[in-house]
Amino acid sequence: AKRSGKGKIAPFVDSLEVTAHSRLELEIELRRALQHEEIEPHFQPIFLLHAHDLLAFEVLARWKHPERGFISPAQFIPVAEETGLILPLGMALLRRSCATASTWHRQGFPVGVSVNLSALQLRDSKLAQQVEQILKESGLPASALTLEITESVLMTDSAQNLAMLDTLSALGIQLAIDDFGTGYSSMAYLSRLPIQILKIDRMFVDRLTDHTKTHSRSARGDKAIIKAVVALARSQQMKVTAEGIENEQQATLLRQLGCDNGQGYHLGRPMGLAQADAFLKSYPTL
Ligand code: C2E
Ligand code: CA
Ligand code: CA
Ligand code: CA
Repeated sequence: AKRSGKGKIAPFVDSLEVTAHSRLELEIELRRALQHEEIEPHFQPIFLLHAHDLLAFEVLARWKHPERGFISPAQFIPVAEETGLILPLGMALLRRSCATASTWHRQGFPVGVSVNLSALQLRDSKLAQQVEQILKESGLPASALTLEITESVLMTDSAQNLAMLDTLSALGIQLAIDDFGTGYSSMAYLSRLPIQILKIDRMFVDRLTDHTKTHSRSARGDKAIIKAVVALARSQQMKVTAEGIENEQQATLLRQLGCDNGQGYHLGRPMGLAQADAFLKSYPTL
């Protein structure tokens, strides 16, 4: 580990500047972490905005490094993608998430889990078979699993992606487009995808009420964008989840704009297994 001063541990990655050395170091550490199961799922609640019921948990990877402490997924997911380690890592996280959710179901808490999928995983021809196997092993009903795929990923290699999405969808799981609104997918393209959920990117939610960073004209513009996304979703029988809700004002606005589901620090932060378990058992589920 690189130490910068007394007891302070330097991050692997300083913003976007990555040295070859730290990148290699991170890759080696990542391989070890995978073997020792140091990367674990944390869970952030997703609520029905109108009824306040807990609908699902989004699974967010957390690396508990023995020396460096907590390492953010923004730092290790890109390296896991570049090295291909995202394939075994993604499957390990999916397996643990489905096993956990299945336990909750058996205990009488039929909550969903929503797991992030990277571009490389979607391009892996074995993906659907592995997802099917994991569902079978865990005993989790397919309908309780959602896979989140970013809009930018969906817009590349469309033919191959489309075939994989259809195969996944045929398993009975749900598919969500993550960070929706940041790409430029056309309505014609969207209507061909077997997608059930659009997740509105945090940026739009943030700008709804933030009049310091942006002019209020832009807040009106963002309301119009969210309205348009909701209308688009309705026309395609999709649900809309707004992410990054940080205050009640945003939650109220999003509810008024017709968003179905909400996620954000105001409603619940990502939490470890024990905390998520207690959280789940203190809320009414669907
Ligand atoms: P994402 O999928 O868009 O996940 C949402 C991110 O927003 C999470 O950051 C979450 O902690 C954060 N967030 C949630 N609510 C709020 C809020 O109210 N305010 C703010 N400011 N942030 C909020 P996190 O956990 O650091 O993850 C970052 C990204 O890393 C994720 O973005 C996702 O793209 C990727 N990621 C995380 N776990 C996995 C994984 O298991 N597999 C893959 N492929 N990617 C993952
Ligand atoms: Ca996500
Ligand atoms: Ca997102
Ligand atoms: Ca994001």
